Amino acid sequence: MFSKILIANRGEIALRILRACRELGIKTVAVHSTADQDAMHVRLADEAVCIGPASSRDSYLNVAAILSAATITGAEAIHPGYGFLSENADFAETVESHGLVFIGPTAQHIRMMGDKITAKTTMQALGVPLVPGSDGELASIEEARKVAAKVGYPVLIKAAAGGGGRGMKVAPTEADLEEAWNVARTEARAAFGNDAVYLEKYMDKPRHIELQILGDNYNNVVHFGERDCSLQRRHQKLLEEAGSPAISAEQRDEIGKTVTEALSKMGYRNAGTLEFLYQDGQFCFIEMNTRLQVEHPVTEMVSDVDLVREQIRIAAGEKLGYTQKDVTFSGHSIECRINAEDPNDFSPCPGTVTVYHPPGGLGVRVDSALYTGYRVPPYYDSMIAKVIVHAPTRAEAIARMQRALDEFVVEGIKTVIPLHRRILENPEFQKGDYTIHWLENFSAQLQEV
Ligand code: ADP
Repeated sequence: MFSKILIANRGEIALRILRACRELGIKTVAVHSTADQDAMHVRLADEAVCIGPASSRDSYLNVAAILSAATITGAEAIHPGYGFLSENADFAETVESHGLVFIGPTAQHIRMMGDKITAKTTMQALGVPLVPGSDGELASIEEARKVAAKVGYPVLIKAAAGGGGRGMKVAPTEADLEEAWNVARTEARAAFGNDAVYLEKYMDKPRHIELQILGDNYNNVVHFGERDCSLQRRHQKLLEEAGSPAISAEQRDEIGKTVTEALSKMGYRNAGTLEFLYQDGQFCFIEMNTRLQVEHPVTEMVSDVDLVREQIRIAAGEKLGYTQKDVTFSGHSIECRINAEDPNDFSPCPGTVTVYHPPGGLGVRVDSALYTGYRVPPYYDSMIAKVIVHAPTRAEAIARMQRALDEFVVEGIKTVIPLHRRILENPEFQKGDYTIHWLENFSAQLQEV
């Protein structure tokens, strides 16, 4: 096992990783920008190294500075968290070529899944069902027209290098195709420096359902069930649940078997998530994330596994030590992402937190790096906390989340807590009756009132 790990991240996820290290008796090195010198992860780590100015490009994405920090402090491994360098294959490769361990999959698998076209063809060859669409990159608008006619409108033009909901454009009819093609390619070129695009059928009422997996270095792969992340705005998740109100235990077992067999054939190691759109009883793969996800706690709550601890154990060369049969689920878990945003238009609201009082009590977990007096900097992601609840049933989990959010005090900045309250009291949500389009319509209705 490692004796010291560098955490190449900030905010709640840096704390989450730090906590797992502490419990394993591993020393931690925090890295931070000048804007984050008073941040909680810096205060709690055993050592902290400043790696650059506020802009992420010069600090949290500064590979040379991060590697120097690891060398100076004698860290043996680097945990990238999510975002920043977590899905950067070159970073993973550089870390390993410096004799350090990257806590994550191989650079080859990160690269493979980072290109969504390669990800889809790889998964298809391994027997995982896909969203109908083009066989790969579209060479021309004429080809796009042909494929769209075959799969039927509406269709979606998506960037091969896409992420964070960018580089994606819907064409409701053939008349809209050329514009969607142009806009998606321009956006993809600007955001990712790569204008390769592909086409998918635009599904009208799917749920976003994803499977959490872990693999070790010895071809053992297990899954930890599904998360339902259908509540999204601008293709970004806001509230997640485990399990999905739409999936039976048999369906979970079936898709779980397909996925674990595929990843075992690939020789995939460490944590990963396969994302699917689910409609009319069919799972359709859209992409794989080769890292820990923001919403991993809901899985931890229902399966009683510490996913970060498992990531570290796997990276240290340990075997999983259990099989699929040993993974069991209990109760229901919900996570609300608390963003420093105006709940009406989702515009970011950084500033000083004048009062911070997190909720507690049975079955309530808060993953956050906030404290009273903390200044939420304007440079990074707007997510400032995650409230996670666990209860025997979904109805009890909803009641517990309502109670937790009522207790939660964050003053001085605007947050999306009021929006979460409205969602939780909505009868359709309470019935579990929602798709990926539900939240967008719901918040539009709220604004009309
Ligand atoms: P990104 O990597 O940018 O997050 P994804 O491919 O994961 O992109 O898609 C993000 C979200 O966009 C999905 O969760 C879903 O809400 C929506 N989406 C993606 N593909 C489709 C599709 N074929 N039909 C309908 N919605 C889609």
